[in-house]
Amino acid sequence: MSFLFKMPLTFTILAVVSAGELLAQSAPTSLPPETVTALQQLAGNMLLSGQAYEYDRQLADGIGPRLTGSANYVKATDWAMAEFTKLGLKNVHRESWTIPATWEPETVGTGRILEPHEQRLHMESEGWSPSTPEGGVKGEVFHLPNLGSAEAIHKDADKIKGAIVLIDSESRQAGGDVPYGTMVDNGSLLAKLGAVAVINGSGTTQNAVSVGGGVWDGHLLALPTANMGAEDTLLLRRLLKAGPVTVEFSFKNRVRENVKIDNIVAVIPGREVPKEFVLIGAHLDSWHPGTGAQDNGTGTSTALAVAQAVMALHAPPRRTLRFVLFGGEEEGLLGSHAYARAHSDELKDCDAVLVTDSGGEAPRGWMTLGRADLKEALAPIQVLLGGLGAEGISDYGRIAFSSDQADFMVRGVPSLVLWTGFDKYMALHHKPSDTFDKVVQKDLTLGAAVVGLTAYAIADEQGSFAAHLTTPQVEEQMKQIKMFEEYKDMRDRGFLF
Ligand SMILES: [Zn+2]
Repeated sequence: MSFLFKMPLTFTILAVVSAGELLAQSAPTSLPPETVTALQQLAGNMLLSGQAYEYDRQLADGIGPRLTGSANYVKATDWAMAEFTKLGLKNVHRESWTIPATWEPETVGTGRILEPHEQRLHMESEGWSPSTPEGGVKGEVFHLPNLGSAEAIHKDADKIKGAIVLIDSESRQAGGDVPYGTMVDNGSLLAKLGAVAVINGSGTTQNAVSVGGGVWDGHLLALPTANMGAEDTLLLRRLLKAGPVTVEFSFKNRVRENVKIDNIVAVIPGREVPKEFVLIGAHLDSWHPGTGAQDNGTGTSTALAVAQAVMALHAPPRRTLRFVLFGGEEEGLLGSHAYARAHSDELKDCDAVLVTDSGGEAPRGWMTLGRADLKEALAPIQVLLGGLGAEGISDYGRIAFSSDQADFMVRGVPSLVLWTGFDKYMALHHKPSDTFDKVVQKDLTLGAAVVGLTAYAIADEQGSFAAHLTTPQVEEQMKQIKMFEEYKDMRDRGFLF
């Protein structure tokens, strides 16, 4: 998941837990008997011979972290191409788009407090931060009270000039529910007001970094920005209460401009209406402190495991299954944005988009992003998913722009996000701890099965899964899930269309 998940954790966790509804008792499914037979076989393939865990191991341990455009990312695209081809999928190909800048750390970041006493700080470069100048940056720390308000920032102009600005969870929450783009703009405003550098206090304990704050369109951040965990952040806040604090830090990053990035596409042609398709998507890129085993090795490996299990059926569904592995998700959903834009003419034939990007905990069901009609449309398959503990439907909307479904959703395509447990996700994603040892084979296998069964059931339906919404209907949907301001802001910036 991407940027909106960098907002306060409490949003996500509380709301996800309170959302959703379980069926009190199961009724027989209304799916046709031949579809049910295929699903039974597919479930057997996925649960007993599913390869998601092995795919994730190969990706996370075998290839490693996959920053968009890095050598490892390219390796991952080669691997995905080879695996889809080996499975016998058709039209396995790359579709490229251009990112304004790729970014990779060249040195380990170093930082320390100079005044009131000398002490090492545990910090790294923030993702997509420019390098510090030769010799590093040095300055007095100013804690920014409110990143959400340009007006409030202007009031502190004197204190910001020449300072290293500390942004922590308090700074990010003070303005309330402001669009993410406003926060990004306000970050750039700090540069205009003469700040020397920024420290993003990530709130992660054990002084671990949690990168990704601030980047959203593949451009570099305006200022050298360090990322720092909770303990050092809290220390700086306490020291600032007693008097001035001076720090210094340095790191070097490698940046290349206008780099071509590949999405990977592969299809299982439908047996009756191949023109119509269900899109199974996940992002192949990851952040670098860990190996992206959860975010989003689990989504990538789910897509491959579904492809493997459906191929093993030798009975494709009526419609085509189209698998798309996106790049640039972590820099602002760039790969899926490019894909939806390039394929906008054929989205009318896209029956549904199923995205997996919330980690590998046990599946609970599907997130429908506030669409009540999708809840109804899922009812026939929901009955069958009950046996996997995944009959839940959540209309939690805060994740609407947090992963690759966003660009399809705003074009009215029925879009679903796999709903999984979320207990460990926030402690792992974007951090050094996002590694394969955290992936539980059973949970990942179950999640992949939910995606495979749902995709097959939708693709095998006689009629279409659900209506494509008009723009006014999408606006209504956004209002209902309280994401209209965010939607409008992104639309006004030309970011979604
Ligand atoms: Zn992700």
